[in-house]
Amino acid sequence: MNDKVKSVLEKLLRAFETGNVPEAIAITVLPPHHLPSSRWSLTNRLLMIFSGTDDARGFQQWKEVGRRVKKGSKAIYILCPRMQKSDEETDEENRQLIGFIAAPVFRYEDTQGEPLDIPEYDPPRMPPLMEVATQWGIQVRWTGGIGDAYGYFAPKRKEIILCTHEEATFFHELAHAAHEKVMGKLKGGQHWKQEVVAELTAAVLAHLYGKRANDGGAYRYIRGYAEKEDMDAYRACLAVIGDVGQCLNLILSERENLSAAA
Ligand SMILES: [Zn+2]
Repeated sequence: MNDKVKSVLEKLLRAFETGNVPEAIAITVLPPHHLPSSRWSLTNRLLMIFSGTDDARGFQQWKEVGRRVKKGSKAIYILCPRMQKSDEETDEENRQLIGFIAAPVFRYEDTQGEPLDIPEYDPPRMPPLMEVATQWGIQVRWTGGIGDAYGYFAPKRKEIILCTHEEATFFHELAHAAHEKVMGKLKGGQHWKQEVVAELTAAVLAHLYGKRANDGGAYRYIRGYAEKEDMDAYRACLAVIGDVGQCLNLILSERENLSAAA
């Protein structure tokens, strides 16, 4: 690890140890676009986003806006709640959930016809270290806010989805991608160690490459996961410091190779 990286990491750890960190910076989430899918469950919306589209609808719904599904297009199946039939003795409000059915929907990209207003979510300028993601074959896509996360990394799809232009969020997801390379495989869900590794790595990257660091935000994020494990933020960081070093080395050496080749 070079001296600059080391000194940033040490400074962060010292601040986390004392808790003497600035307030978190507010993150601006990209505005969600109001679409039929806006009413879906978070699981269904994530399923759609990770199928490579921001807008999926049923066959009939597309027809209603003057678009038709292209021949040979594959459907995405979302799960819809199935309620008790209303002609039974219960009124509308007291109907019971009796299960789920898979409903086929199609991606906007697999339809043609009347043009639709599509919001532009890409940032005006690509974030630093984007070339590392590209080199690793990872697609980065921006979309309107979904759920309560700012970003997602899908290892199997090799895709990063971002709901904000904030660079630190991109760095966090890129760090997950680096961590996957280090470990060979990531655990599913929000595993505390993986989250602390990603956030601490991202905090260092924000100091090295970003336009604004958010140490306060990183500290609070890490503390949230640490507390669930009966630790403070500092101890949680120490517990994963080896992995953080490896992730930083991987990202920084890739970036160095790329600029040497350019
Ligand atoms: Zn994460």
